Amino acid sequence: MSKFNTTLIHGGKVDDNNTGAINTPVYNSSTYVYPKFGADVRWDYERSGNPTRASVEQLLAKLENGFAGFAFASGMAAITAAFSLFKPGDNIVIGENIYGGTFRYINEYLKPNGITFTSVDTRDSDAVEKAISADTKAIYFETVTNPLLQLTDVRQITAIAKKHHILTLIDNTFLSPYLQQPLNLGADVVIHSATKYLAGHSDLVAGVVVAKDKDVAEQIYNYQNTTGAVLPPQESSILQRGIQTLAVRMDRHLFNVQKVIEFLEKDSHISVIHYPGHDGDKNFEAIKDECKGFGGVLSFELNPGLDAKEFVNHIKVFSFAVSLGAVESLAEVPAFQSHAEIPREERLKVGIKDELIRLSIGLEDYHDLIDDIKQALEYV
Ligand SMILES: *Cc1c(COP(=O)(O)O)cnc(C)c1O
Repeated sequence: MSKFNTTLIHGGKVDDNNTGAINTPVYNSSTYVYPKFGADVRWDYERSGNPTRASVEQLLAKLENGFAGFAFASGMAAITAAFSLFKPGDNIVIGENIYGGTFRYINEYLKPNGITFTSVDTRDSDAVEKAISADTKAIYFETVTNPLLQLTDVRQITAIAKKHHILTLIDNTFLSPYLQQPLNLGADVVIHSATKYLAGHSDLVAGVVVAKDKDVAEQIYNYQNTTGAVLPPQESSILQRGIQTLAVRMDRHLFNVQKVIEFLEKDSHISVIHYPGHDGDKNFEAIKDECKGFGGVLSFELNPGLDAKEFVNHIKVFSFAVSLGAVESLAEVPAFQSHAEIPREERLKVGIKDELIRLSIGLEDYHDLIDDIKQALEYV
């Protein structure tokens, strides 16, 4: 078994080319020829399987230490596939601060179809345990939440789930397998919006599910093959290329984020910095050894009454855009963009104020990032 950084580069080889090409070819082929009637073929039709997609899926399974990985056309397609494990009457205990699109999918599609949800602060293990009922089949959460970067202790929650014989599903988009491998901490399913750190270059939309066990993997495969929101061959190839540099990119994200935080800590426009270790997160000590770092996203609150919109209107090196996890630095105002679909009272209840600004720190020279933040803060 090779080490993680070696697997990043070499873990996605599919032995299916006769040319010696060092990369898995992009197989633009919707259908495959049968050598003869009744032949037992590996590939027959692209929705069911494609060698380029299989290459990146195999790589993802290795990186997460799962039984099998599945690549989807978006993070939301991956999340939809993960929730297909449940049926009407089932209850799912869910983190109260989850990705906006997941929140919408649950409210507009899963709840009307009879799956019930109990929303809890997954940082509080007693609350999680209390929320579990006879109908509960799973716990679903994000290890590091968006945009407040709150931490859930994965080991603690998976221990509760195991005690109650239910599944743990984790959307780990914000950490990536380089920083944390939830399946090794007891989770059953890990999900990524591969659009973010895994692809890493703002050049594609993709999603990933990795299942720890064969049984769950077979159900996810059946859903993927049945509903067809698969990642196309070209995108699979681009995703695999992105993943090869995950470790080096992530190391630079972590370095730059620390430099930016050191600057923000001293700036008088800012009241709070949200990044693990900076805002008194009670799970910080516990989770510190569950991951290698906390990623390249941080958020901060301007002093009450200051105008976050003026900040994003004046940034020059940062781009004013949603999304995260790519080579270029991005800034956005969650209350009006990424989290605009969450009703204002609920948004404020979970701490997403109008003065909150989220930064995704890229790979630029950190001096330029700091200078840019400094000049934009003059306008708030
Ligand atoms: C972006 C994101 C998603 C959705 O992924 P898409 O690729 O945009 O469909 C899901 N979860 C988290 C945490 C995200 O950041």
